[in-house]
This record gives sequence, C-alpha cells and structure tokens, in this order.
Amino acid sequence: MEEPHVVSKDKKHKKNGMLAPLVLLFIFMAVMVIYISTLMYRVAVSNSNAVMEDRVLSVSAMINSHLNTAENVLHVAGDSVHHMLISGTTSARIHEFLVDETTNVSEQFDENYTGLYGFIMGKYIDGLNWEPPAGYDPKTRDWFIVAKDAEGKVVFSPPYIDAQTGNMIISVCRLLPDKQSVIALDVQLQGIQSMMKDLNVSGKGYGFVVDEGGMIIAHGDESLKGTNLCDTDEGEEFYRAISQAGTGSFSYNWDGKKNTVYVNKITNDWHVVMVVSDSELYSDVRIQSIVIIVICILIFSLIVGIYYMVYKNEQKYTKRMEEMKLEEQRAEYDRMVLEIEKDAANAANKAKSDFLANMSHEIRTPMNAILGMDEMILRSVTGDPIRKYALDIQSAGKTLLSIINDILDFSKIESGKMELIPVEYSFSSVMNDVVNMTMKKAQDKGIQYNLSISEAIPSKLHGDEIRVRQVMLNLINNAIKYTHEGSVSVGVEYDGTSQMLRVTVSDTGIGIKEEDIGKLFGLFQRVDEDKNRNIEGTGLGLNITMRLVQMMDGTVDVDSHYGEGTTFVASMKQEVVDATPIGDFAQNIMRMQMDQEEYKPALIAPDARVLVVDDNDMNLEVIEGLLEDTRIKITTAESGQECIDILREKSFDIVFLDQMMPGLTGAQTLAEVKKEHLADDTPIIALTADAIMGARENYLKEGFTDYLSKPVMYEALEALLVKYIDSRLILTEEQLEDEKKKKQEDRPVILVISDSAENLQKLKETISDDYKGVFVRNEESAKKYLKNHEVEFVLKDDRIG
Ligand code: ADP
Repeated sequence: MEEPHVVSKDKKHKKNGMLAPLVLLFIFMAVMVIYISTLMYRVAVSNSNAVMEDRVLSVSAMINSHLNTAENVLHVAGDSVHHMLISGTTSARIHEFLVDETTNVSEQFDENYTGLYGFIMGKYIDGLNWEPPAGYDPKTRDWFIVAKDAEGKVVFSPPYIDAQTGNMIISVCRLLPDKQSVIALDVQLQGIQSMMKDLNVSGKGYGFVVDEGGMIIAHGDESLKGTNLCDTDEGEEFYRAISQAGTGSFSYNWDGKKNTVYVNKITNDWHVVMVVSDSELYSDVRIQSIVIIVICILIFSLIVGIYYMVYKNEQKYTKRMEEMKLEEQRAEYDRMVLEIEKDAANAANKAKSDFLANMSHEIRTPMNAILGMDEMILRSVTGDPIRKYALDIQSAGKTLLSIINDILDFSKIESGKMELIPVEYSFSSVMNDVVNMTMKKAQDKGIQYNLSISEAIPSKLHGDEIRVRQVMLNLINNAIKYTHEGSVSVGVEYDGTSQMLRVTVSDTGIGIKEEDIGKLFGLFQRVDEDKNRNIEGTGLGLNITMRLVQMMDGTVDVDSHYGEGTTFVASMKQEVVDATPIGDFAQNIMRMQMDQEEYKPALIAPDARVLVVDDNDMNLEVIEGLLEDTRIKITTAESGQECIDILREKSFDIVFLDQMMPGLTGAQTLAEVKKEHLADDTPIIALTADAIMGARENYLKEGFTDYLSKPVMYEALEALLVKYIDSRLILTEEQLEDEKKKKQEDRPVILVISDSAENLQKLKETISDDYKGVFVRNEESAKKYLKNHEVEFVLKDDRIG
C-alpha cells in the first residue's frame, strides 16, 4: 500500500511542476494583453482626439470665415452709407447703392448672403427691392433692436425664420454713426448646415452648432435644426457643460452612453460641437484587442497542447520505463527461479549420474570376474561340453554388457548428459573396426556381407569417432540380427558440400511392416514381436541411434518392404581434416588384415614388469590369468597405499591402477605418485568400470596415460600393452622361434623301443610336448643311441625280449 501512495504523490508533484510554468505563462500573456490593449487604447484615444479636434477646428474656421465675410461686407457697406448720409445723398441714391451692393455680394460671394437692407433716414430701404407688408415696423425687428443695443458694433441677430424664404437665417447688423440708421445683411445658415456633414470622423459621431442661447443653428440631423437645447433639463445641462468647456473636449454621458464631446467656441459666442460615442470611437481598438486576445488564447492553447503532449509523452515514457524495470525485475526473478530449478535439476542429474556411475561400476565389476574367469576356462579347457558352456557364458555376458551399455547411453541422453567428444580420427580405422566386429558375425550366420565404401571419403575426419562407430554398428548388427538368409550390404560415402558422412545399410531380412515404421525409433519399441521373440534386443538401439545422429546434425531414414528387406540411411556431419581420399578400402582392409597377421607380435614379454592395482582379488586374478601366457612379470597391489609403497621400491614398465578403491582412490594415488616422482616415465593406465560420459577425458585430464574399461577384454588389454611397453621387451617372432627350437632341443628324452609300428604311433601321441620322444625298433638301435645320448627314461614294449 505504501508504494502506490508514494507514486501518486510523486505524480502529483510532477503535475504541479508542470502546472506552475503554465500558470506563469498565462499570467504573463494576460499582462501582455492588458498592456498592449491599454497602449493601443491610449494611442487610439490620442489619435482620435487629434483627428476630432482637428475636424472641429476646421469646421469652426469655415463658419468663422462665413460669418466674418458677412461682417466685413456690412462694415464696408455701413461706412459707405454713412458717408452718403453725411454728403446728403438722397435715399433713392442710397437705395440704388444697396441694390448694387446686394448684387455684388451675391456675385462675389455666394447665395448665402441674401441682401443688404436697412432703416435709413427714417425709412426702410431694401437692396432686393422687397416691399414690406403693411404695418411692417423695422424698429420692432431683432436686427434693429440688436444693432441699436450694440451701439455701432457689427453684431448678429438671433436666428430666425426668413419671412420670404422660410429658411433659417441670421442678420448681421450695425447702427450707423448717426445713431438713427441701421444697416443689415441677411446670411442664410444653409451653408453652415451643409458643413455639418463633415463634422464626424469616418462616419463616426455627429456635430452641431449652438448659439449662446442654446439654439441649434445647424445639426448633423437637420430635423433638430432650430430646436433649443435648453428646452429640456438634460439638454440644458449638456449646454452648460458645452459652454463651460468653451474650447476643448470632455466626457459626457448621454442616454446612458459614454461620449466624448469636442467643443470650439467661435464668433458670436457660438459653439461648434462634435459628439462621438466611446463605443464607436474605440470600436477598432476593441476589435484589435479581441484579435490580440484570440491570438494569445490560441498561442496559449497551442503551448498548453504541446506542453500537455510532452507531459503525456513523458508520462508514457516514465510508465514504459517503469514497466521495463518491472519486466527486468520479473525476468531477473524468473532467471533466479530458473537458476534454482537448474541447480536442483543439476543436483538431481548429478545424483543420477553418480548413481549411473555406481551402478555401472557395480555391474561391470562382477562382469569382469565372470568374463575373465570364463576366458580362462576357455583357455584351459579343450573338450566338450565344458568349453561349450563357457562359450555360452561368454556370449551371454557380452550381450548383457551391450544391454547395460545401451541403458547407460539412454540414461545419459535422457539426462542431457550425452555430449559429443569430437576428435580427429582416421575413417579407415573406424571402418576397419566396424567391419571386424560385424563381418564375421554375418559370415557365421551364412549371410553374404557386401561392402561398398566410396574411394573419395577423406582419410581424416573430425567428429566423435566412438559415436560414429556406434551408429554404424547398431545399424549393421540389426541388419545381421534380422536377416536369416541373403545378404547385408554396407555402403558409405561422404558429401563434401553438406559435410555429411552417409551410411547405407541394406539387408534382405524380415523387413518391417509399413504401419510399424513410425514406431521404430520409439523408446523400448520392438516391432513384429511374434517373429522377433527369439532375437535378443531391448528396443533401445534405434532410439539411441536416432538421437546420436541428431546430435551430429544428421538424420536417419528407413525404407522397408515387409518380408523382403530393409534399408537404413544415416547421415552424420563430420568435418574434414585431411581430404586425401581413402582409396580402395576393400583392398586396404585385406592388406591391413594380412599385415596384422604378419606383424602382429605374439605378446610375449618375459622381461616386462607390470603392476596391477585393484582392491578386488578376483579382478587381480583375472588380469593375472589373462596375462599368464605373455610371461610378463606381474606384481599386484590391493590398495593405493600399497601401490605407492611398491613403486618406492621398484620400477615397472606399465601400471594398471583401479579407480574405485577404499582408502586412496586411483586419482589420489596417481597424484601422490606424481608428487613423489615415483613413476615419471611409466605409463599409468586407469582401470575403471565407469562407463558414463566424459570418463575417458576425465582420466586423461587427471594425468593418466590411457584408460581401460572393465570388464577387461583381452584384446583391449593386449593392445594397450603393445602400445605402451617398450617394444624391445616384446619377443619377436624370430626370438620366439629360436626359443622354441632351443626349448625343444633341451627337452628330456624318452627312448621308446617297440617293433610294432602301431604301438609306436600310439605312444607318440601320448607323450606330452614336454618330452622329446626317440622311437627305435629294437634294442640294438637303442644301445647305439644310448652310447651318445642321455635319456630321461626308456619305455620298452613287453613283447620285445
Ligand atoms: P532391438 O534391440 O530390439 O534390436 P532396436 O531399437 O535396434 O531394438 O530396433 C527396434 C526394432 O526395429 C527391432 O525390435 C526390430 O523389430 C526392428 N528392426 C530394427 N532393424 C531392423 C532390420 N534391419 N530389419 C527388420 N527389423 C528391424
């Protein structure tokens, strides 16, 4: 429970670690947005203010100039009329002047200046020749009253609706120096009204001109022209703000909307006003702000997205790492379990192989005695039936040994202990062994034995020669076993490309039923048991063969016709060491056999000294018996210690040292002997009943010169002696011949006297080889012989007198 907690805390911590920069980024971006927006707002405000103020000022200038023109015109006209009055010009003349001036003004300026008129010399005179209606009193008109009040200054009357045109107009008027006459000029306000359409910025806002009384003189919305702001409280308040501002700008809430108002005071105390609602004014800024915000949000989302992906990836990576770590731990755990299991299995295997070694030893030791003793019986007995019994014991013993060997091989394979021990070997020598061990069997059975050995087989191969031989022997022995008449053919060839040694064994034997072929290679499988009941076998041979062949990267194939015969083909991978072809093997084998017969030394070595060490009396006796004919001087020892003691005293030509002995084992004895340098030049041969894997190599590794397996077979024993004993100690054929001759000559003589040829022949047969018989027909001859020779004793036929 503890660990997940820690992990989640860790994750939370990580998450927080991821969030903090995001929050910071968010704050940073928000500040940026606010800052940029404010900046833009300010710039926009100052820009708009400048533009608006500029617009108001330019419209104001236009209105000013409009009014000033009217003022100037009136000023000039007033001065002219004043001079005319002083010079006593008639009113008709003044009327003419006004008419001319009116025409001039409208031609020179524009139609907004409608006409000059006045109350001059107590009379209303009009430059446009307008006839006032009856009852018209100029002195009641605004222009007259205002001018009078202004006392000679040019002033403007309040706006009013022109009686003639219905348009809003103002009159600019002036009291002449005579203090009686007033001259005036009407100015249409249409022109000012038309200026209102320019009083905005790109359509934003509206403008108007208001006089000092709050009346709207011109307005963007023409319908409001002529109305008075001060008619409503709200309007009045607004007007007050306008007149307070004079010239400049101020913010003002109107109809619940925030507005910026630009004001400029012009001639006649009028104000040119422009009103722009803030929402309109800053709509661009708002749009830009929104765009910036959107862009920022997009950038932020993008960063968050990337960040999130990185975070997820990192999480995935961390998770994967954790999983991998877990997997590694699991694999480590599995490996440990496997190791423990393997150790246990190894221990079990070791126990098994120890058991096999012991069992093999236990069985082989008595077998050694049985076969050895049997050999001695065979050597010493010539007549039936004892010799036959002994031969039967030998055959049964050998069969038993081969069964034990098969079982051991099988156990080795099963426990995985079977290993190939590849060495460099001569193919001819292996083939020679195989032929020697099988040909005679076939011939004894009256079966023809055919050999077809490819001449191209390389002379030296690299592989496990013992197993190659075993496979060949298994197949050939089976062929001989299961063939009652006809032939057994053995063919061998080598395929250089696949490096396969291919052995084909065909027979004309009983064959195998098709349905049985699948079972052949099974364990303990014997097929067609009715027929084969009398043939010895365990059903292990083919299984072992197959497994050995598989170990050698090869295959076994079988082709059989029931009742006609069988062909087995085994291929085994063997590397080439010397590619020289073996040549004609059949010829070679004949020569080899002949050579053997010619040169095989009869192993008689009376001067050779052999030490045999074995704790088992019977085994010592067997070896002594087997070697009796060799006349080798045999010394025996029953323990390792005794062996060491003897070696301290004497030297030998060869030592056979048993492995399993109470006290010092063979290996320990050897170690001691080597340590004391007791037999440095003497071959020491391990004598053992072990038949388990690796025994051979182990003994060589431990320092033994060679290895002799029990039960000791005479041939193997003799071969070892020939190999290791100094050849000068072995008597040659000639020496033996000489010895024999000498021996014969030195034999004691028996003198036999008989006149019967038949008796003489009988006596010849009864005298043993140890005596030399001299046969004479009569005493006379006997005497002659006795004169020159010494005889042991004389045999005389009764019938001779
Ligand atoms: P076994 O010890 O019985 O010979 P193998 O494993 O060598 O065991 O052979 C298994 C069986 O295959 C034998 O029992 C025999 O029935 C059959 N078999 C083997 N070789 C031949 C052959 N050359 N001809 C006929 N049958 C054979």
